[in-house]
Amino acid sequence: MDSAPCLQIQALSKQYAGPQGRRVLDGLDLQLAAGEYVAIMGASGSGKSTLLNVLGGLLRADSGTIRLEGVPMHNLDDAGLTRLRRRRIGFVFQAFHLLPHLSACMNIALPLQLDGVPRGQALARARALLEQVALGERADALPGELSGGEVQRVAVARALAHEPALVLADEPTGNLDHGIGLRVLTLLREQLGSRGGSGLLVTHSLEAARTADRILVLQDGRLQPWEGQTG
Ligand code: ADP
Ligand code: MG
Repeated sequence: MDSAPCLQIQALSKQYAGPQGRRVLDGLDLQLAAGEYVAIMGASGSGKSTLLNVLGGLLRADSGTIRLEGVPMHNLDDAGLTRLRRRRIGFVFQAFHLLPHLSACMNIALPLQLDGVPRGQALARARALLEQVALGERADALPGELSGGEVQRVAVARALAHEPALVLADEPTGNLDHGIGLRVLTLLREQLGSRGGSGLLVTHSLEAARTADRILVLQDGRLQPWEGQTG
C-alpha cells in the first residue's frame, strides 16, 4: 500500500513588499514522498530560504497550498502552525545556534521537555540520539567546547529528537570543512532514513546535493529537475 506523500505543495507564490518586490516564489509545485530526501540548489537570491521558511511555518505565502502529511498548513492559524512545526518539523540551519550555557544533551532534551516529555525521558532520548551521531562521550560538553562538525551533529540530533515527518536543512554545513560537511550530511541522511522521515536539503554544493535521492533547481520561482541528473 502506498503511504500518503509527506509534502504536497501546489501553486505556491510569495512576493516581498517593497519597490523591487518581485515574486520570489511563483506558482511553485513540489511533491515529496514519505521517506524521500530531496536537495534544492539554485543561485543566491533565487528564493531557497524563502521556500524553507514558508515550509517551516516561519513565513506566510501569499497564495497556494501546502499539505504536510495531508494537513493543510495554509489554513492553520499561527498557534496551529507553531504546534505543527514543533511536533512534525525539524530544522538544521547553519545559523541555528545551540544554547551556549546548556550541555549538548540539554540542548536536545529541553525542546522535548517544553513539548511535555518528562525530564528523565527527554534526557534518555537525548543521550541515545547523541550515541547515534557518535557523540555519546560528549553529551555533557558545552557547545563552545565542541568543534564545528560536532556542533552540527548535535543540531542533527536535535532536529530528529521529536521524530519529525520532515526535516528542513538550509545550507547546514556551509561553514564547515568540506569533508566534515559531507560526513554530517551523510549522517543526517542515514538518521532520517532509519526513521522514515523526509528531508529537504538546500545547498550550494553539487557534491552535497548528491547525498539526496533527487536534485531540484529553484529558478524563476519554480522547481525543476536538475539537468545534469543522469549518473
Ligand atoms: P536564497 O536563499 O536562495 O539565497 P532568499 O530566499 O533568501 O534566497 O531571497 C530571495 C529574494 O528575496 C532575494 O532577492 C532577497 O533579497 C529577497 N528577500 C529575502 N528576504 C526578504 C525580506 N525579508 N524582505 C524583502 N526581500 C527579501
Ligand atoms: Mg538562503
